[in-house]
Amino acid sequence: MLGGGILGCLTALQCARRGIGVVLVDQEASLWSRASLANEGKVHLGLVYALGSAETQQSMLRDAVRFGPLVDEAFGEPVDWPRISTEGFAYIVMPESARTAPQLALTYQSINDDYLGLGRPAYLGEHLESVVDLDPTTDEASGLLSFHTFERAVDPITLRALALAAISRRPEITVRCATTATSIESKGDHALTTVRGAEGESTVRSMCVIDCRWESQGMGVAGYRAPRRNIRVKAAVRAQTAHPVITATLVAGPFGDIVQHRDYVYLSWYPAARLHHEFTPAASGAAHDALAGAASTDVINAQLRALAQHRWIPDDITAIEGTGGFIVGEGPTDIDDPHSELHNRAASRVLRHDRVILPLSLKFTSAPVAASTAAELAHEIVRDR
Ligand SMILES: Cc1cc2nc3c(=O)[nH]c(=O)nc-3n(C[C@H](O)[C@H](O)[C@H](O)COP(=O)(O)OP(=O)(O)OC[C@H]3O[C@@H](n4cnc5c(N)ncnc54)[C@H](O)[C@@H]3O)c2cc1C
Repeated sequence: MLGGGILGCLTALQCARRGIGVVLVDQEASLWSRASLANEGKVHLGLVYALGSAETQQSMLRDAVRFGPLVDEAFGEPVDWPRISTEGFAYIVMPESARTAPQLALTYQSINDDYLGLGRPAYLGEHLESVVDLDPTTDEASGLLSFHTFERAVDPITLRALALAAISRRPEITVRCATTATSIESKGDHALTTVRGAEGESTVRSMCVIDCRWESQGMGVAGYRAPRRNIRVKAAVRAQTAHPVITATLVAGPFGDIVQHRDYVYLSWYPAARLHHEFTPAASGAAHDALAGAASTDVINAQLRALAQHRWIPDDITAIEGTGGFIVGEGPTDIDDPHSELHNRAASRVLRHDRVILPLSLKFTSAPVAASTAAELAHEIVRDR
């Protein structure tokens, strides 16, 4: 297993449940320390994809309602979802929104209908009456129209701690951090992965390899040509305040989010948070350099200033740290293009190239489904040996 973010960790746990031994390799000093830690943890019900296809909204909703059960299953015990989740997001309609409130209400209605059509399955442990209230109210701070939704974010820091505890309970999983995978070759009935760590270069032999390396997925896989992908570096800020903030997504376009997690506030103002954008098979050196800038005072302050201007954050807000990560999607253009393929995220699926499994999960939300599908495929390969 290559890459130990949410996708790799859950896939390893799902393999272990099926009795498969796993060597989980990550280049960082600890697991779940990249995009999976830097993100806001929203378990998308499809609402943010109002500019996308109905298929995108439907697939997000389906992945979201499976998120809780599949994580519980992977961890081998139920998560206390209400304890680690935020309040429902307000969807505040920006003056420059690419969709008017009535247009949004139409899309939201079809998401509500879809949820009811699925039989109102539990979402993060709760059966909802609907996904979103279709009648917007006025947000007091900004005077803008706001839809109340039941969409929530889970705290990725707490979820990570639970995942690491679950991994430590699994004797089938061997973790090798500070170890970089450089090449993978399929050799008939097995695969050979070359890795480089503190002790130098070595080879891992396995029945199959599951490649969960996110921004470098597919690189070094013999005979596989990784496609060009939309790779962005996005920053965010973890902050604290004595006054709890509204949990909100600013729609519809390249704006931002304000998330009141239990122990901190997560803030992001997109135009200032976008540090790099490229259309390449894997993140370039320039993209990695840009990521280092996410923690800089300039990037933190630019986001805080923009959000303060709209009066969404209180005066006493203090940054704890700047964070950031890669966001991988499809197509060359960014979300300010109404035709960008980033508005369509129905692309989660699992590919197979010889003995290498490539789970394509474009969101935190879709990782549990992709992990479960990848582990099932690995199980078939191991069983058929
Ligand atoms: C700022 C931000 C906000 C986001 N908000 C949301 C959100 O609210 N909701 C949502 O659904 N999604 C969100 N996303 C997207 C989400 O974070 C990602 O879809 C998800 O975390 C990807 O998980 P992953 O495990 O595939 O990748 P990662 O967490 O990046 O894990 C990949 C791992 O692979 C390792 N790796 C890479 N190359 C190698 C190598 N050669 N050898 C060994 N190891 C390697 C890395 O060290 C890393 O640990 C956001 C992303 C960002 C950056």
